[in-house]
Amino acid sequence: MVLREGGETSNPPDEGRIGFGGLLPRGFEFEIARVSPPCKNRGMGSRSLFWFRRDLRLQDNPALLAAMDAADEVLGLFIMDQEIADRAGAFRNAYLADSLRALNESMNGRLAVIWGDPQDVLTDVIARYSISSVHVSEEFAPYGVARDRDLEEAGISLVKTGSIYAVAPGRVRKPDGTNYRVYTPFYRAWLTHGWRAPAGMADAERFLAPKPTDQLFPDWKAPEGADLQSAGEVAALRRWQAYRDEGLDEYDQARNIPGIPGTSRLSPHLRWGEIHPRTILAELGDSSAHAVFRKEIAWREFYADVLHHYPQTSRDYYAPQFAQMRYDEPGEKFERWCEGKTGYPIVDAAMRQLTSEGWMHNRCRMIVASFLVKDLHIEWQHGAKFFMKYLIDNDVASNSHGWQWTAGCGTDASPYYRVFNPVDQGKRFDGEGTYIRKYVPELRHLPADSIHEPWNFLDGYSFGYSKRIVDHAQERLESLARLDEIKARKPEYNA
Ligand SMILES: Cc1cc2nc3c(=O)[nH]c(=O)nc-3n(C[C@H](O)[C@H](O)[C@H](O)COP(=O)(O)OP(=O)(O)OC[C@H]3O[C@@H](n4cnc5c(N)ncnc54)[C@H](O)[C@@H]3O)c2cc1C
Repeated sequence: MVLREGGETSNPPDEGRIGFGGLLPRGFEFEIARVSPPCKNRGMGSRSLFWFRRDLRLQDNPALLAAMDAADEVLGLFIMDQEIADRAGAFRNAYLADSLRALNESMNGRLAVIWGDPQDVLTDVIARYSISSVHVSEEFAPYGVARDRDLEEAGISLVKTGSIYAVAPGRVRKPDGTNYRVYTPFYRAWLTHGWRAPAGMADAERFLAPKPTDQLFPDWKAPEGADLQSAGEVAALRRWQAYRDEGLDEYDQARNIPGIPGTSRLSPHLRWGEIHPRTILAELGDSSAHAVFRKEIAWREFYADVLHHYPQTSRDYYAPQFAQMRYDEPGEKFERWCEGKTGYPIVDAAMRQLTSEGWMHNRCRMIVASFLVKDLHIEWQHGAKFFMKYLIDNDVASNSHGWQWTAGCGTDASPYYRVFNPVDQGKRFDGEGTYIRKYVPELRHLPADSIHEPWNFLDGYSFGYSKRIVDHAQERLESLARLDEIKARKPEYNA
């Protein structure tokens, strides 16, 4: 039953994979969990190290199972990098702190958390705990790739098993061996490629108890009054099961309506690897709602694949001619966008959702991104950076490419340059104004027929709502004029 994939150079223990519709029987999960690399050191009091990075879970974690198969005891370690923590906002840090506490609980209090530079920490820990092998899930985003390469060059070898994706970036190829640049053909090939069945559960009893001085958990808390969703593997599995049973069948109808809980909100759990996409994909069926959900998971995989092939696009333009466009410096208007005070109700509601919950609905991410780039003429990187600071699901591939898609300089295969009309978008996707009323108290008094255009109504500004910082109709024309100046054509696609 165990299939081998061509071109795999590392040593994944779970080479079994399944295609769409070809789910393997439940018992196979056990078989998968037991297929592991040759165990050189078991039975000799040996110790391996599992370095938790973007995989804060015990279930369906092949790299952790590989660490367990490699030695008698496993030290589970999270390295807290002060530099990254300083860049992250309070929401991100609070979510991570919660997730680490949850992981520690499921490890019976045996998670090591050590602050410092990964090379210094690993060198020290390997010596102090007599570690024979260091195990990780492979990273694909530019920062992680560079960090791992530096470690290996410094002589710390990493046993890489699996990744945070159903299909690792770089695997899905066109018949001629090149990568896909357009989502739909990528999606078809991704389905055909298939993915592994979920792996089993790691045995928490096999973790080595670290010294108390190696358990320096951060005490980051969410800002006062913030509404942060629960972190951790148990929370992730509960959220997935509840959504699978109660929301998933309406996903195709509900996913674009920000005023209702129509999407799964699994993104923070996926970002931190509290659940693996395999676990989710294995439970999807054939209905149209399930198919749409599978397609959204595939967007995450597509963007990771694109970033893998074009690592510079985490910050640079995917379509380089857009770097030549005329942009405005981020000044006061940018501040108003950040604060949710642009005078456009749906934009302001969305930005306030971001700064109060550390999360934003996908439809609204597109609306505010379009507004920043096409109404305020500010480069997408400024918005992406602000998102990365606040989002608890901050993911460089989905974020940079979500921004570039909306800005018109990304992988969007459409022949059109889209400019979202914030009023029409509000009317269309938040017709009753439920979402706006939730986040913008100054507009709560307005009924559905006036909440999207308060400037047209006498009492529109009675409770201090901001006046519009720009006129959308004019800025739309300005945006098209600037596009014309660079004579931008869509990137040449030959998929
Ligand atoms: C400007 C912009 C920035 C974004 N930044 C991020 C980011 O930093 N991190 C992030 O995870 N997603 C990002 N996205 C994608 C998307 O908005 C979120 O994944 C989604 O809103 C998460 O909510 P959910 O879990 O309820 O999604 P659901 O609708 O329940 O979808 C299930 C899962 O599919 C994946 N997914 C869904 N839509 C997309 C998409 N458009 N692109 C990639 N993956 C998707 C996510 O992993 C999501 O959890 C961004 C989109 C845009 C337009």
